[in-house]
Amino acid sequence: MIQQAKEILQETFGYNTFRPLQNEVISNVIRKKDTLVIMPTGGGKSLCYQIPALIFNGLTVVVSPLISLMKDQVEQLEEFGVPALFLNSSLTPEMYRQNVNRLRRGDAKLLYLAPETLMMDSTRRLLSDIKVDCFTIDEAHCISEWGHDFRPEYRQLARVRKDFPDAVCLALTATATPRVRNDIRDILEMKNSNAFVASFDRNNLLLKIADKENPLDQILDFLYTRPKQSGIIYCFSRRQVDELYSDLKHEGHSVLPYHAGLSETERTRNQDAFIRDDARIIVATIAFGMGINKPDVRYVIHHDMPQNIESYYQQIGRSGRDGLQADCLLLYSYSDKQKIQYFINKKEGTEKEVAEKHLEALINYLEFDGCRRIPLLNYFGEKYEKEDCGMCDNCLRHKDELQDLTVPAQKYLSCVARTGEMYGAHHIADILRGSKAKKILENGHDKLSTYGIGVDWPKNQWIQLSRLLIRKGLLKKDPQYGSLLLTDDATAVLSGDEILQGVLDRTQTGTGDDVRTKTTSDVENKYDEYLFEELRKKRKELADVQEIPPYTIFPDTTLMEMSYYFPQSEEKLMGIYGVGSAKMKKYGDIFLDIIRAYCEEHNIKERSRDLNRRINKSTSSRKHDRVGREYNSGKSINHLAEQFGVKKVTILSNLKKFVDDGNSIDPAGVLEASELSERKRDEVFESMKRIGPELLKPVYEDLNKEVDYNELRILQLAYLAEHGS
Ligand code: ADP
Ligand code: ZN
Repeated sequence: MIQQAKEILQETFGYNTFRPLQNEVISNVIRKKDTLVIMPTGGGKSLCYQIPALIFNGLTVVVSPLISLMKDQVEQLEEFGVPALFLNSSLTPEMYRQNVNRLRRGDAKLLYLAPETLMMDSTRRLLSDIKVDCFTIDEAHCISEWGHDFRPEYRQLARVRKDFPDAVCLALTATATPRVRNDIRDILEMKNSNAFVASFDRNNLLLKIADKENPLDQILDFLYTRPKQSGIIYCFSRRQVDELYSDLKHEGHSVLPYHAGLSETERTRNQDAFIRDDARIIVATIAFGMGINKPDVRYVIHHDMPQNIESYYQQIGRSGRDGLQADCLLLYSYSDKQKIQYFINKKEGTEKEVAEKHLEALINYLEFDGCRRIPLLNYFGEKYEKEDCGMCDNCLRHKDELQDLTVPAQKYLSCVARTGEMYGAHHIADILRGSKAKKILENGHDKLSTYGIGVDWPKNQWIQLSRLLIRKGLLKKDPQYGSLLLTDDATAVLSGDEILQGVLDRTQTGTGDDVRTKTTSDVENKYDEYLFEELRKKRKELADVQEIPPYTIFPDTTLMEMSYYFPQSEEKLMGIYGVGSAKMKKYGDIFLDIIRAYCEEHNIKERSRDLNRRINKSTSSRKHDRVGREYNSGKSINHLAEQFGVKKVTILSNLKKFVDDGNSIDPAGVLEASELSERKRDEVFESMKRIGPELLKPVYEDLNKEVDYNELRILQLAYLAEHGS
C-alpha cells in the first residue's frame, strides 16, 4: 500500500519524495494504527492524513481549530483535484446545506470541522450514517492545558472519537514539550499508539542576529534587495507597529499593519491582502500568524526582542515552509532586554521564575558565539550534531572577520574603572576620544590618563565595542541607571592574561541576494528571474479570478523550477515540483505557452533534469563580484540589470558590496542612474561630506526628508566610488 501512497504523492501532488517521517506515518495510519505526529511547522504534516484519505474508502474527518486554515486547506486540495469540504460557522445556510448533501452523496474524501461543529448533535447524526476511516486532530496541542492555546472544546474530542470505532486516530502538532505530548496521548486514550517526532531543525532558515542601532535604516537595508518577496516584521507594541508601518509605506514599500487594536474587518482584510500577494510586507504584533499557511514567506524580521525562544521559533517558523531559503533577522538591543526584564519583575512566584528562565535561555541564544542551532535545538531537547550549519550568522562569518580587540578593550574597561563605574557607554567613548563636552570638563574627566587615548577610533566603533564587551560578559549595564559596571571576568582581560577576539560591527543587515548558502540549490541560484516574473504575473491573474491565494495554484518553487528547466512538453512539465495531474490539466497549457514563447524569443533550450546538482558555496563565485567586474568592463547599470534579470536597485546594491570589499568603480556610471538635478545632488554630497556617507538616515533628515532613500543610495554609492569606502 505504501507503493500506492508514493504514486499519490507523485500523481496527485506532484512531489518526488517524502519528507522525513511522512512515509513512516502514512504506512502506520493506513494500517489503522493510532498515531501521534510531532513535526515543526512546514514539516509536511498535512500530507500525513491527506494521502491516507485518498487510500481509504471512507471519509477522513479533520478537526481543526482555525476557520481560515480550513478554508485554505480545502482550496489547496481542490486545486490538486482532491474532493474536500468544510463545515463551520463561516458558511451561509445555503452553502452549509450544499456541503451536507455532498457528504451524504459520498462526494468528499476529506471533511474539515471546527470542534464546536463536530460536537453539534446534527453533525454527529450526519456522521453516524457515513463510514469514517480516519479521525484526524490537527493542532492537537490545543487539547492540553499546558499548551499555549488550550481550547476547552478539544477536551470533548476523546468522547466523540468513540463515535467512530472503525476509524484510526491521528493527532498532529508542532508543539514538542513532553508534558503536552503526554497530555494528548492520555486524553485521546492513545495508549498503544506510535509517536513520530521529527527533528525541529529547519535547515532552510538562515538565522541572523544584528545589533539594533538604527532599526529603520537597518530594515530598509534589508528590504532593499527584496522588493518582491513576502515577509513579516514583528514588533513589540501596537504603537511600534503603526510607526514602522507608516515609515515603510512612506518609503514606498507594499506594506500593511496587523495588531489587536485594529477592527476585525481590517485585520482580515490585511491578512488576506498578504496571503494574496497584494501586500508584500506585514508589520505585526504577535497577534499575527496563527492562521497563516502561506508557504512563500521569504523572511521574518524581529524589530524587537521576542518573548522567549518558543515564540521566536514559532514566528520564524512561518517563513520558508516551501523549503526554499528564508532569512530570519533579529535586531537585538540591550534596552529591549531591560524592557522584558521590567515586565518580568512585575510578576510573582513561579510565574516570575519561569519567565526569568525563558529570558535567560533567549539571551543565551542571542549572545551565543557558536552555531546558533546548538542553543536553539537544545532548548527543544535536541542535540545539534554538526559543528557548522552554514546557515547562521556565526557559521557564515569568515574566521578572518574576527579581530583581536584586547588593547581597545583594555582602554575601554580601564576608563570604566577610572570613572567609578558610574557612566554609560557614550560618556566613556567621549572620554576616550578626548571630547571637550561640558559633562567631561565639569567632572574633570579630561585629567584622566585614559582621556584621549582612543582618538584613532570613531565614536560609533567604541559604542560597538561596549556592546561586544556586554555580550562577552565583561561589562554589565546597571538596570536602573544605565551605567556600565565591570564584571569579574573583566580582570583577566585588563591584566592581559586573556585576549579578546570578536566582531565589532554587528549592525549590517543588508546582506541579500549574495548570501547564497550551502543549502540552496542550483534552481534557487540560477533560475531566470524574467520568466519567473512573467509566470508570477499569470499566476496572480488566475488566482484573482478564482479568488484564491496565488500559492494554491503553484508555489514559488514550481515557478522557479519552470524558470530553470524551461520544460517544453506536458511530459516534462509533469516532472516539475508541485505539478500533479489535476493542475496539469487545469493550468498546464497556460504555463507551457508562456515558457515556450519566452524560450523562443530568447533562444533558450530545455534543460535536462540531472543537471540539478547542489552547489557548494566555495566554488560559486559571489554575485556582487561578478556584477562589479562586468560594470568595470564598461557595461551600464541598465545593461547589467537586464543581463542578470534583476532590478536596477539590485545591481546598485551589488556594486555597493563590491566597493565595500575595497574595490573601486567609476562614479560616473553610477550617477547616470540618478534622476536628481545637479544642484540637488550637490546638496546631498555636501550633507554626506558633513555627516559621513555610511548612514543614510541622518542624511535623509539633514535634507528635510526631501530626497528619497533610493536616490540617497545611488548618491551614496557615487560618493563612495569617488572618495573610497
Ligand atoms: P505543516 O502543516 O507541517 O506546517 P504543510 O503540510 O503545510 O506543513 O507542508 C508545508 C509545505 O510543504 C506545503 O507547501 C506542502 O505542500 C509541502 N510539502 C509537504 N510534503 C512535501 C513533500 N513530500 N515534498 C514536497 N513538498 C512537500
Ligand atoms: Zn550555524
